[in-house]
Amino acid sequence: MRTFLSPPHLSEEGHERLFLEEALASNWIAPTGPQVDAFEREFAEINRSPHAVAVSSGTAAIDLSLRLLGVGAGDDVLCSTFTFIGSTAPIVHRGAGPVFVDSEPSTWNLDPNLLEDELRVRSRAGRPLPKAAVVVDLYGQSADFDPIVGTCERYGVPIIEDAAEALGATYRGVPSGNQGALGVFSFNGNKIITTSGGGMLVCRDEAAAGRARRLSTQARDPAPHYQHSDVGYNYTMSNLLAAVGRGQLRVLERRVAARRAIFDRYRMALGDLPGIEFMPDAGFGRATRWLTCIVIVPELFGADRETVRLALEAIDVESRPLWKPMHLQPAFLGCPSLGGEVSARLFEQGLCLPSGSSLTECDQNRVVEAIRTVAVRGRHCQ
Ligand SMILES: *Cc1c(COP(=O)(O)O)cnc(C)c1O
Repeated sequence: MRTFLSPPHLSEEGHERLFLEEALASNWIAPTGPQVDAFEREFAEINRSPHAVAVSSGTAAIDLSLRLLGVGAGDDVLCSTFTFIGSTAPIVHRGAGPVFVDSEPSTWNLDPNLLEDELRVRSRAGRPLPKAAVVVDLYGQSADFDPIVGTCERYGVPIIEDAAEALGATYRGVPSGNQGALGVFSFNGNKIITTSGGGMLVCRDEAAAGRARRLSTQARDPAPHYQHSDVGYNYTMSNLLAAVGRGQLRVLERRVAARRAIFDRYRMALGDLPGIEFMPDAGFGRATRWLTCIVIVPELFGADRETVRLALEAIDVESRPLWKPMHLQPAFLGCPSLGGEVSARLFEQGLCLPSGSSLTECDQNRVVEAIRTVAVRGRHCQ
């Protein structure tokens, strides 16, 4: 049986089924309803976010966030380059231009110094400042928000925290997603909890939450007929999927613990090999280790990342290169990029290992043995 990178993992107790049955029995087979309301309430409480709005995907939540911040044609938006395209595609959809920012080696997330340099230079030259910054928390680890928030506040640039990969993580004791004006989560099938597809937008400002809710439901005015003084989106979450989400939320803590244990076992089993580095622990909070990420230095390891990936594929194990940075994507050719070498190296040498919370120790051992075999063979052939 194939070992997947990060497959869905339903609750042992069957919570999802119970909530789904409730939803079906209530006949709320609709893009709104009591399960959606409860999911938003429960999510907001667990994540200590004042307001939460359930939407159809993480990408939709980013798109709504940009719209709420007034991002439009001709604006620049700063964005972590080392991310999934869901963080950046909405910038283009809004007619704005992404300005990519490289990672810092200690967190793999947006480099606060590059951000500060850019804002200082623009401000001194009297050039327009970016309309917003999309700051990503990658692979379950928060970006270093104290300096990022400090700089952005000084220059008046609002932050969207893309915590799609970081539900359950913290930064200095605060759950991820709460650092900026708006925070975004994803419940795509491979995330730490899933609704098959879905997202959540969180914020402090009640009016912003209200606007997000209105815009995500086609911006309908209060009238008996369909009246619109604004143009919105159909970005709502189905009541059925919210039921699944409620069940998943109940096991979030358990899933975080399992992923962290998987990371620790990989490090114990592979950490002695020369040429393997693990994603650093930034130390300012809890990383969920959504995916265990390693970097393979071929000169020391004896083989490159791709050789390892293919060796795993040969025993039916799914692994994946780290995200290809946006500044190297053909779709974004010509977009400005601040730095880029850190994330480029991570992409070239990095690999995500199977990290699903349902991964058995037996399957994890197969992964470890295959990687160790490649290392031994590599050293003999040098
Ligand atoms: C998954 C993900 C998204 C988008 O989420 P979808 O629900 O798939 O639209 C955005 N940003 C990051 C960093 C992600 O990993």
